[in-house]
Order: sequence, then structure tokens, then C-alpha cells
Amino acid sequence: MDGTEVAVRAVETVGTDTIALTLETPDGFDARPGQFVQLAATVDGEEITRHYTLSSPEADPTFEVTVEVDPEGALSPYLADLEPGETVEVAGPFGDSYYEGEERVVVLAGGPGVGPAVGIGERATSEDAAVTVVYEDDEPAHEDRLVALADAGASVVVTDDVSSEDVLEVLADAHGQTFIYGFADFLDRATAALNAANVDVEDAKTENFGPAPDSDA
Ligand SMILES: Cc1cc2nc3c(=O)[nH]c(=O)nc-3n(C[C@H](O)[C@H](O)[C@H](O)COP(=O)(O)OP(=O)(O)OC[C@H]3O[C@@H](n4cnc5c(N)ncnc54)[C@H](O)[C@@H]3O)c2cc1C
Repeated sequence: MDGTEVAVRAVETVGTDTIALTLETPDGFDARPGQFVQLAATVDGEEITRHYTLSSPEADPTFEVTVEVDPEGALSPYLADLEPGETVEVAGPFGDSYYEGEERVVVLAGGPGVGPAVGIGERATSEDAAVTVVYEDDEPAHEDRLVALADAGASVVVTDDVSSEDVLEVLADAHGQTFIYGFADFLDRATAALNAANVDVEDAKTENFGPAPDSDA
């Protein structure tokens, strides 16, 4: 991979099988929450590259990604075992689905999609935007940051079913730019929920993390 070697600054457990990885920001790297990077490392003699989405509100002097650790995976367990001072390679940022200063944001997140949800929520809150976060997970991560967002005035709903009646009510009432982040199965469920709440999904900013780890795709 044609990337830049950067130092790990911190690896923090932020939920069940979920870590926040803080990395030194490469020179000239200008990223916004919701964009993603490519990380590469040599694992058992083989270079492995995977994409991860910014979960910090800012990207200078460090930036953060939130990684759901798949014990069967090639890269995520390696990232979880990194120590501060070790290095990985970074390329990017990539992607068009990021926060661009909108005054009202509605972020739907599934699983590790909570990363961009908290990053965008915090950035938008700091810019006095109205923030709604709907996060579907059986075992939520980043609970402290979600509570802090709610304390700062955001509407935060954590659910195990993005199509439940109470979520549909929140979606119907929350007007603004819609963002959707997560694995493909969550994107399908979130889109169905938005349709059921009569919210236009045409202009949603969406990032697909690929097939869910336990899917057959
Ligand atoms: C744009 C984008 C943004 C993303 N952002 C994030 C993010 O912010 N956070 C995050 O956690 N993830 C994100 N992802 C997903 C991430 O890139 C990785 O796919 C994820 O971390 C798994 O990588 P891994 O190397 O640990 O697992 P992999 O080695 O890719 O394996 C994943 C699963 O597939 C199984 N598997 C692998 N190969 C086979 C095979 N041949 N046959 C059957 N099963 C197989 C493995 O057993 C494992 O359970 C993003 C993906 C994209 C495309």
C-alpha cells in the first residue's frame, strides 16, 4: 500500500470487542468525521489492508478510528493488540459521506458505525448544529461519549431494532441531513426504517462497511 507510516498513540477498549485506535496524523492529512482511511500492517508476513472510518471530531494532531474486533479477522485483532509507539500505515482520507457543516444532522449507525456517529455528533454539536443519533447494537460501544452528546443537547437513541415504533417517531420528527454508517445488513434495515418513517433517503450520506462479519456474503 502506498501510505504513510504513523505511530499509534492509544488503544482503548470502548465496548465489547470494540476499540478506539488513536493515531498520529500524517503531514498534510485533512479529514472530516465520516471520511475513512485505509490502514495497513504486516501480519504473519503478509500485508493486510482494511478501511476504517474517522470517529474523532477533529483530525489534528491525532485522529481516531473505532474498530469492531472480529476474533476470526485478519487485521482487527492485530490492531487491538497494538501498543502506543508501534506503527501502522495510513492512506487517505477517502469518501464523500462526511460532515460538511450542516446545521441539522441525523446519524443512523449500526455496530462499528457508532464511530462516525460520535465523531459527527461531537463536531456538529461543537458547531451548534442540531444532532440526532440513532444507534442499533445489542452491546453498545462509546457509551460515555453518547451520554456526553445527550447531555450537550443531542437526541440520542440506542436500540436493538432500528425499525421499532419509538425509533420511527424520532426519525419522522428529526429533520436534517441523514447519514448512515455500518455493515450492509444494517444499511438495508436503516433504509427500510427511514422509508417507514417517510424520510427521503435519496440524499442520505451513506458508507457501507461491506458484508457483516457473520454473513455468508
Ligand atoms: C468504507 C469502509 C469503512 C469501514 N469502516 C469501519 C469502521 O469504522 N470500523 C470497523 O470496525 N470496520 C470498518 N470497516 C470494515 C473493516 O474494513 C474490516 O472489514 C473489518 O474490520 C474486518 O476486517 P478483519 O481483517 O478483522 O477481518 P477479515 O479478515 O476481513 O474477516 C472478516 C470475517 O470474514 C471471515 N472470512 C474472511 N475470509 C473468508 C472466506 N474466504 N470465507 C469465509 N469467511 C471468511 C472471517 O472469518 C471473519 O469472520 C469498513 C469497511 C469499509 C469498506
